[in-house]
Amino acid sequence: MIGTPTLAVWKFASCDGCQLTLLDCEDELLTLAGQVHIAHFLEASSAVLPGPYDVSLVEGSITTPGDVDRIRQVRASSKVLVTIGACATSGGIQALRNFADVQEFTSVVYASPPYIESLATSTPISAHVPVDFELRGCPIDKHQLLEVISAFLVGRKPDIPDTSVCTECKRRGLTCVTVASNTPCLGPVTHAGCGALCPAVGRGCYGCFGPMTGANVPAMIGRLHECGMTEGAIDKVLATFNVAAPGFRLPLVQR
Ligand code: SF4
Ligand code: SF4
Repeated sequence: MIGTPTLAVWKFASCDGCQLTLLDCEDELLTLAGQVHIAHFLEASSAVLPGPYDVSLVEGSITTPGDVDRIRQVRASSKVLVTIGACATSGGIQALRNFADVQEFTSVVYASPPYIESLATSTPISAHVPVDFELRGCPIDKHQLLEVISAFLVGRKPDIPDTSVCTECKRRGLTCVTVASNTPCLGPVTHAGCGALCPAVGRGCYGCFGPMTGANVPAMIGRLHECGMTEGAIDKVLATFNVAAPGFRLPLVQR
């Protein structure tokens, strides 16, 4: 990129947690700010520079007709578009609506449902526009985020391996909670990135980073049964942060 590259951060349906991860890069943020113009980041500043932008980070899923128009505008003004977090990469927790009746929800929650403009589904950004890279997690990991931003700023591929949480467990030398105490754990099918946070405190993985490529979820379900989980409990553990991700949604729609 010629000159100082511009970075833009955009929000769609989300809790802002992934944007906060960027603000949480306290030690690295000043260095980053010295290398890029942060041109659009409303979570941090109301100062906005016009596009086009070299790199756009997009948080959140598409849940309204207005979102559909806006993400197309963001794509058109971005050379590189990176989606961050479970909302943006799989539809997020709000994709639970994909398996329910949205009109029923709005009629119960809102006094004047006709004013609510909401799509029947919550979908990832990639369902609407081409995406250059998807960074997983709920929320994303700050070290992975810095790696992705640095990589695109210098024009190389991000070094984010598509392996399972189990590999992170092994690197940390942790005792496997499933082997040691028969604790249910989604680590074998979950994308690495968190550093095996839950197994490190003796708990099973909850799948925050979504399914890794080629995840054998049917085999995982068999193992969860062996660990004592009921069918309903398995449905619930898969219906969390990445409920609509291919792989994790399989049990919901097939049973
Ligand atoms: S992925 Fe999780 S932390 Fe990030 S915006 Fe969505 S709900 Fe919040
Ligand atoms: S604790 Fe979970 S993530 Fe860690 S090795 Fe065992 S199954 Fe894999």
